[in-house]
Order: sequence, then structure tokens, then C-alpha cells
Amino acid sequence: MSARLTKAHFESIAQSRNHKLIGSWQYENIDSIISIRCHCGHEWSCTARSYKNAKTGCQECKNKAISKVQTGKNVSVPMAKKLAIEFLNKQRFAKLLVKRGL
Ligand SMILES: [Zn+2]
Repeated sequence: MSARLTKAHFESIAQSRNHKLIGSWQYENIDSIISIRCHCGHEWSCTARSYKNAKTGCQECKNKAISKVQTGKNVSVPMAKKLAIEFLNKQRFAKLLVKRGL
């Protein structure tokens, strides 16, 4: 049993995803086509069902997120290693100082 969904329900989903429902559609059932505009300006339409189930998100933002992850990996993995090595060296250095009573 599920609560009856309303247009307001989808408006709140959209708001939580930084989207906005556009056009003058009426929610009739879960297969109603809804139109959405993302905060990035991209607009698309899909069924209320797929939007609710998060199967349809903003393709533009998805692409950006993927490229961000990819470039992030390229930058952050060697960076993280470098920082880890630096950290270990500092620890060794600190131990050395302790050993020598400095
Ligand atoms: Zn977007």
C-alpha cells in the first residue's frame, strides 16, 4: 500500500534534487510525463515513475560528475600518496628526534 502521490510530492522531490518542474502538466498517475529543469539549465521529460525512482536524472550533471571523478582520481591519487609519504617521513623524523633526546 502506498500513499497517493500528488504533484506537490514531485515538486518536493525536484526541489531536493536542485531541479524544478516546468510546464503546466497535471499529475494523473505514476506514468504521467513530467518536465524538469535542472539548476544547470538542462531540461528533459520523463515519466513521474522514473523520476521518482531516480532512474532519470540530469544527463548534463551526470556527465560533469563523471568527468569530475575521473580528473579527481588523476590528481588526488598521486597527491594522496605524496601526502602519505610526507606524513610517514615526518613521523620517522619525530621518532628520530625523540631517540636522540632532542
Ligand atoms: Zn544539471
